[in-house]
Amino acid sequence: MNTLAKKVVILDDDDGIAKLVIEAVHQVGFTGESANNFESFKEILSRNQPDLILIDLVMPKVDGILVLRYLASQNCTSNILLMSGFDPKVVQTAERLGVSLGLSVEGVLSKPVPFSLLKSEIKRAASSNDSISETDLRNVVANQEIDVHLQPKVRLSPPPSADNKLADNVLSIEMGGTNYEVVGFEALARWQLSDGSFVPPSIFIPMAEEIDLIQSLTDTIYQNVVKLLGKWNRIGYHLTAAINISPRLMGNLDLPDKLVETAISEGVATEQVILELTESATMADADHIMEVLTRFRLKGFGLSIDDFGTGYSSLIQLYRMPFTEMKVDKSFVDDMKSSEEAQTIIRSIVHLGHNLGMKICAEGVEDLPVSMALAELTCDYAQGYYYSRPQPAADFEALLNIA
Ligand code: C2E
Ligand code: MG
Ligand code: MG
Repeated sequence: MNTLAKKVVILDDDDGIAKLVIEAVHQVGFTGESANNFESFKEILSRNQPDLILIDLVMPKVDGILVLRYLASQNCTSNILLMSGFDPKVVQTAERLGVSLGLSVEGVLSKPVPFSLLKSEIKRAASSNDSISETDLRNVVANQEIDVHLQPKVRLSPPPSADNKLADNVLSIEMGGTNYEVVGFEALARWQLSDGSFVPPSIFIPMAEEIDLIQSLTDTIYQNVVKLLGKWNRIGYHLTAAINISPRLMGNLDLPDKLVETAISEGVATEQVILELTESATMADADHIMEVLTRFRLKGFGLSIDDFGTGYSSLIQLYRMPFTEMKVDKSFVDDMKSSEEAQTIIRSIVHLGHNLGMKICAEGVEDLPVSMALAELTCDYAQGYYYSRPQPAADFEALLNIA
């Protein structure tokens, strides 16, 4: 627990608001500094690593998006609260962008912000990482106590046959009268604290990347997953497993051979493993990434672009990279029911992906209408709470009747 007073920095061109925020910061017992322009904001940050940064999204000379990009380029690990009087949709987009850039965006405050809410939000957002420390993370990773939960990935298209029957060695989930074939699962890292609560991956994955633990954490997840695949192969169920790979690991030239060796030792084909990389990661250093991805692909691994639609891939890069699958980000999937634009985007992604020879998987499917609409758009696979939440391996086996 950090016993020093928290440091808060606010960037807002409106001096009145900045003063109000600083007053709130003092009242909750923290220290604060304000900047009314980008230059002095950068100057403050060069002297300080604040616990919390508040940013006004709309300022005359610099917009909040540029500020977020700047913070990402500096690998800023401070928590961030965004403030704006603007249309909530725009602010949510900015929030998503911040998260996709790897920033710890804690939330959004709509102006005018009631003073009591301002105080409670500052207190919450500055303290959200208090319960865990780097040492805790080092310990759980060293003791291989990072767990893996599995979320089923179901086939949407082509749909099940009219009699709704699947072959004997095919696993399935029945929802609303439909038997969905389970083609595989995504492995998601889980860190459970002694009080039973979970630390979200959005907190500990960036921390693991920062302190060079991500290789070791991914090794543990990979070994666990490949063991499960091997065990199920031996009783006749051949599933695929998607593993999230941090862009930091792409510099490790031994990685492809190491992953192949582990797979073979458990009796698993590399074709059963799909490596997921976020879209923004693939664009950071395209030539190098292309080389590593091609090596993975030549060894048989599937390659998936995660959170597709939130980054900035150029179509040319996408066309040249050896991806086998695109995962449509859940923000579009969420919006499908209410927004024609979201439907159009998904339809276009499905089209584009299929024309480039890729499969499409939708993430974050939470209900039947969305599942049906995606099947209608010939989206190949889906994941989401509608079919099943991510769960421990034993519960996954029980759900799918894997004897
Ligand atoms: P992701 O790879 O895009 O994983 C999908 C996230 O969506 C997971 O969040 C999952 O629990 C959540 N999700 C699945 N279905 C639904 C749904 O219907 N509705 C909603 N609202 N959410 C759904 P989770 O487990 O919190 O993971 C967050 C992110 O952390 C992952 O996003 C991935 O980028 C990262 N992550 C998780 N495990 C690992 C890991 O082992 N290594 C690395 N490098 N990153 C990981
Ligand atoms: Mg993923
Ligand atoms: Mg995703």
